[in-house]
Amino acid sequence: MDYPGNLFVVAAPSGAGKSSLVKALLELDSQVLPSVSHTTRPPRGQEKHGREYFFVSDEEFDRMVLADAFVEWAHVHSRRYGTSKKMIEDRIARGADVILEIDYQGALQIKRVFANAVLVFILPPSWEELRSRLERRGEDSPDIIEMRLENAREELAQAPQFDFVIINELFERALFDLKAIVHAQRLKYSAQRRARADTFQALHIP
Ligand code: GDP
Ligand code: ADP
Ligand code: 5GP
Repeated sequence: MDYPGNLFVVAAPSGAGKSSLVKALLELDSQVLPSVSHTTRPPRGQEKHGREYFFVSDEEFDRMVLADAFVEWAHVHSRRYGTSKKMIEDRIARGADVILEIDYQGALQIKRVFANAVLVFILPPSWEELRSRLERRGEDSPDIIEMRLENAREELAQAPQFDFVIINELFERALFDLKAIVHAQRLKYSAQRRARADTFQALHIP
């Protein structure tokens, strides 16, 4: 599928810092738009329907699956999460850059549909730090944290399938790396050709 915008897909084990990094990127770069996923998990403390997620019932999620409303969906941590087609297709067709914060199964499904999607994997600096971030975040109960750490083993094993890797040790450094990946995509020949058509024309470059 060809489209003018870039599609960035960020995956990481829970607690690696993906939401913090994506949120910081969105604040710095208004050309990047988020995709809001649907999930069957309940909202956490400050989360708002339509902002972090569309929180839906199992029945509603089933209906959307049957209606072929998702580009990808997956079971993650015993819940279901999905990216609706509506969320991304009109945005990238208009030339916006869209960033998805989804699990590795979803990321690999996206790559099959959008071959040019850029897959970014965020690593924590260590197991100990991953655990302590989940504990410090204070949003999940101890048994949920254990399940997320258990799932992290399988998730980390998928890193080789991604295009880029960021180690989120020092937050500012990791954010710099994420910005660099976004920036580099915009400097690709095809993107520059589209964004600066007048310059290419004046220089007689095809
Ligand atoms: P979540 O997706 O709901 O967990 O929300 P965020 O991860 O975006 O933010 C959770 C909190 O962590 C906020 O208060 C952030 O300001 C804070 N935070 C973000 N990055 C860092 C960091 O590098 N170090 C520390 N200590 N706190 C951070
Ligand atoms: P994810 O979205 O991958 O589950 P979060 O963005 O919620 O992860 O980050 C998990 C916790 O770790 C949050 O409390 C966040 O503030 C903290 N955090 C994120 N990046 C760093 C970092 N580089 N150093 C220390 N703490 C961090
Ligand atoms: P959390 O409950 O911590 O917000 O997210 C749990 C996991 O579900 C994370 O790995 C997150 O990336 C993933 N996730 C969130 N939205 C989607 C989605 O639309 N599709 C898929 N496949 N995974 C998602």
